[in-house]
Amino acid sequence: MARHKKIIERVSEIYKWIEAQQFANKDIAGRCEVCGKCCDFEQYDHRLFVTTPEIIYFVEKLGLANIKQMTTAKCCYHVEGKCGVHAYRFSGCRIFCCKGDATFQSELTESAIKKFKALCAELQIPYRYLELPTALKDFLNAEDTETAL
Ligand code: SF4
Ligand code: SF4
Repeated sequence: MARHKKIIERVSEIYKWIEAQQFANKDIAGRCEVCGKCCDFEQYDHRLFVTTPEIIYFVEKLGLANIKQMTTAKCCYHVEGKCGVHAYRFSGCRIFCCKGDATFQSELTESAIKKFKALCAELQIPYRYLELPTALKDFLNAEDTETAL
């Protein structure tokens, strides 16, 4: 489907744009030591929100059969001490860094959200901004992708 392909391309572009912003602001973006602590949401008191286009991208890249529901407060994609979906992780995972400047991250998040919203408006897909467990649950409980999104 042309629209689906476009969503995947555009999300990939937004992720690249995020990386470019971080690269251009290396001093304040923070350097993650990949300890995985923030992937344990309850323990770290952290919440991860994802947008509709990101979920579509994630399912496309990972394959529907590999989409899991969260059964604990730790991200279900955190395996053996590291992110098992690093290449496809969400903008929140890409932007958050405990070593970085909170204002920079907050502004980058806002700008990224604007891009995801604009993408939804342009391609006429419903915009949602849900916590990861809810987003995964909604997706898996829906009858098909169109219903879920
Ligand atoms: S997707 Fe990866 S980086 Fe994001 S919370 Fe899950 S394990 Fe952590
Ligand atoms: S952002 Fe911080 S807490 Fe999260 S994995 Fe990186 S170093 Fe660990």
